[in-house]
Amino acid sequence: MKVTVQVVVHDSDESDTPTVLREVLVLDRDGLGIDTVGLQLDEAKELLAGVQDIVVDAQVAVAVAAQVGCPHCGAARRHKDTGQVVVRSLFGTLRVPSPRWWHCGCQPHPTRTFRPVAELLPERTTPELAYLQARFAAQASYQVAATLLAEVLPLGRTLHAATVRRHTHAVAQRLEGELGDEQPSFISGCPRDWQQLPRPDLPLIVGLDGGYVHAATQRSRRDGWFEVIAGKAMQANGNPTCFGFVQTYDTKPKRRLFEVLTAHGMAPNQQVTFLTDGGEDIRDLPRMLNPQAEHLLDWFHITMRITVMTNMAKSLCSPPPDPDLPAAPPPDLAADVGGQLESVKWFLWHGNVFRALQIIDELTVDLDVAEPSVSEAKLLKAVGEFDSYIRANAERIPNYGERYRAGETISTSFVESAVNQLVSKRMVKKQQMRWTPRGAHLLLQVRVRVLNDQLADDFHRWHPAFTRTPDRHAAAA
Ligand SMILES: [Zn+2]
Repeated sequence: MKVTVQVVVHDSDESDTPTVLREVLVLDRDGLGIDTVGLQLDEAKELLAGVQDIVVDAQVAVAVAAQVGCPHCGAARRHKDTGQVVVRSLFGTLRVPSPRWWHCGCQPHPTRTFRPVAELLPERTTPELAYLQARFAAQASYQVAATLLAEVLPLGRTLHAATVRRHTHAVAQRLEGELGDEQPSFISGCPRDWQQLPRPDLPLIVGLDGGYVHAATQRSRRDGWFEVIAGKAMQANGNPTCFGFVQTYDTKPKRRLFEVLTAHGMAPNQQVTFLTDGGEDIRDLPRMLNPQAEHLLDWFHITMRITVMTNMAKSLCSPPPDPDLPAAPPPDLAADVGGQLESVKWFLWHGNVFRALQIIDELTVDLDVAEPSVSEAKLLKAVGEFDSYIRANAERIPNYGERYRAGETISTSFVESAVNQLVSKRMVKKQQMRWTPRGAHLLLQVRVRVLNDQLADDFHRWHPAFTRTPDRHAAAA
C-alpha cells in the first residue's frame, strides 16, 4: 500500500482563486503490525517539516504581495535583490527568501532600500522553540535538553548544549529586564496610613535558605563553591511561590522578593514572618521589605544540627570505670552527652537561649579532654560551631513551643525542599556540573518560572499568539 500526503493551499477563501497542490510525503506500508501501525517518528518529522515549509512559503508570498505597494502612493516598490532570513523553529530551520526593495521616491527615507520580510521577523527563533528549550533546560542539563528536543522534533540541525544555554539565558535576561529598580527599602508610607488599611489576610510566610553549587572557576580550594539563595513564600493556607538568586551576582534581591510578596497580596500592615537558616547574607533582607516583618530562625535548622550532634554522640566511647568508686554505675559518655543535647533542644524550644548556651558550655568542658578520641574531637568542633550559630541568631529565637501551641509557623520544611527542588536537583546532581554566578542566577530565574508555572504566561505576554499552556498539574508536581 502506498499513501501520499498532499497539502492544498488556497490563496484566499474565495472559490475562484487558484490552489496549490504539493506532495510532502509518500509512505509505503505492507501489512499491519505493532511496528508498522501508523506513523514512525522519522516519517512524522518529515511530514511536519514538509507541511511547515509549504505553510511558510505561502505565508511569505502573501506577506510580500501585501507589502509591495507604497503605502503613500500605491506604486509597486522596485526589487533590488533577494537575501535570506534564517528562522529556527520546532519543525526545521527555515531559510526564508528575503527580498530587498528600493524605497518609493514619493517620500524621503533615511535609507534607500529596505527588507520587508526581515522586518516582519526580527527574532530568529520561534517563541515555541525558545520556550521549550528554556522549559527543558530548567529541568534537566543543557545537554539532556538539547538531546531530547533534537530526538523528537525535526529541528533540521544539530542542537548544541551551548545553544540551549544561550537561549535560556536570553529568556532569563528578558525576565530580569522586566524587574523594576532596586531600592534601599521597599517600605513606603507611614504607620498612621497603614492603620487605615483594611485588615489584611493571614500572615505571609517566607522561608529563605542557602544551598551551594560548584563554581566554574576554582582558583583555590576555598572558592570551589558559591551560595545560591532559594526560598518560598506562601499564605498560611495557600500555594507557595518559589524564588531564588545568587547573592553575589544579583543586584536586585530586595526588589525580587518584594515582587514575590506583592504577588501574594502583601499589604504594608500585613504580618510577614521570615524563617531563615540564620545565614549572614540574608539577615538584612526582611527589615527592608515590610514594616511588620518578623525574622525567626527556622526551628528545622536547629533540630537538624542537634540531630547531627546526637548521632555523633552515639559513637563516643565511655572511659573505663573508676577503680576508686567500684559501687558507682559505669559511666556512659554517649548517653550523658545525648541527654545534654536533649536539654539544649528543650531549652531552645522554649526560647531559653541563656540556659541552652550554659549547657553547651558544660558540654564543651566535658568534651575538651587532654587526648580526645576522633569522635570526641569531631563532636567538640560541631558543638563549638553550634554555639556560635546560636549566639549569632539569639535574637531570632522565639519561644517555639508557645508559637506552636498558638498555631503559628515555626518551621518551613518547605524551605529545605525549596533548596532541594530549586538548586540541588538541577545544579548539584552531578559533581562535574560547574557554574558561574551569572549562569546559575539566570538559570534559576527560568527554573523558578517553570516551577511556579509562569513561563508560558511570560511567553504569552511577549508573543500574544503564543498560547501554549503546559499541563498545570504536571508543572506543579
Ligand atoms: Zn510612493
